Amino acid sequence: MSNRWSKLVHYMLSPVPCVLCGAKCKAQRSLCGACFAELPFLSANACQVCALPLFFQGKSSQGKTCGRCLNSPPPYKKCIAAFDYLEPVAHLVQSLKFHGKLAYASLLGSIMADSFVDQIDVLPNVIVPVPLHRTRLRERGYNQALELSRPIAKKLGVPIDITHCNRLRPTSIQSLLPADERHKNVRGAFEFDNERKFSRVAIVDDVMTTGHTINELTKTILQSGVTEVSVWVCARAPLH
Ligand SMILES: [Zn+2]
Ligand SMILES: [Zn+2]
Repeated sequence: MSNRWSKLVHYMLSPVPCVLCGAKCKAQRSLCGACFAELPFLSANACQVCALPLFFQGKSSQGKTCGRCLNSPPPYKKCIAAFDYLEPVAHLVQSLKFHGKLAYASLLGSIMADSFVDQIDVLPNVIVPVPLHRTRLRERGYNQALELSRPIAKKLGVPIDITHCNRLRPTSIQSLLPADERHKNVRGAFEFDNERKFSRVAIVDDVMTTGHTINELTKTILQSGVTEVSVWVCARAPLH
């Protein structure tokens, strides 16, 4: 056996510590079965459009769409989220985003891919990770949305495009702003060049809260001639 292959076999068979409890796990993922089972996977009782929890299940023939989406449909077709934004996912996302834990992107991204695969009717032409402004990208050194996109792109066989979508100005971090300032903060923040004439795009991001950033990027992409935008996020946070 070549040195490379023996290293690979050794790697595959070696127990790795679970990122949450430290228990040894042989799974390809660095998460033990018990911790995986405890993850806050998105409730089945979520709006099929915006992925927020449905508090009332009526007999409406319109299916499981929340009142907010019925009254004022968002610009995207559908938001798919792997998790509710609860612990320990919140910790993993924050560590990925602010503390350089890039390994968490492959863990979370591969779980996202597995949970999305049955929920996607028609694959998009391309995945567009929500871009960071170049100043923040320089500070952080990576874009967590792109890192989450990689395992998804691989599993679904959809390419990632990071060259035709830009954040034009350095916006404040949305979660630090009061809700009424978030829309203003991201207005006109993006550009998208649909040079390759895509018709279906999936936006990938780590967390979706009020949706102002995602809505703004969706509108920008739709203005370029794309006909359908889906949103794939790791976690959906409640509005308040
Ligand atoms: Zn564990
Ligand atoms: Zn909804």
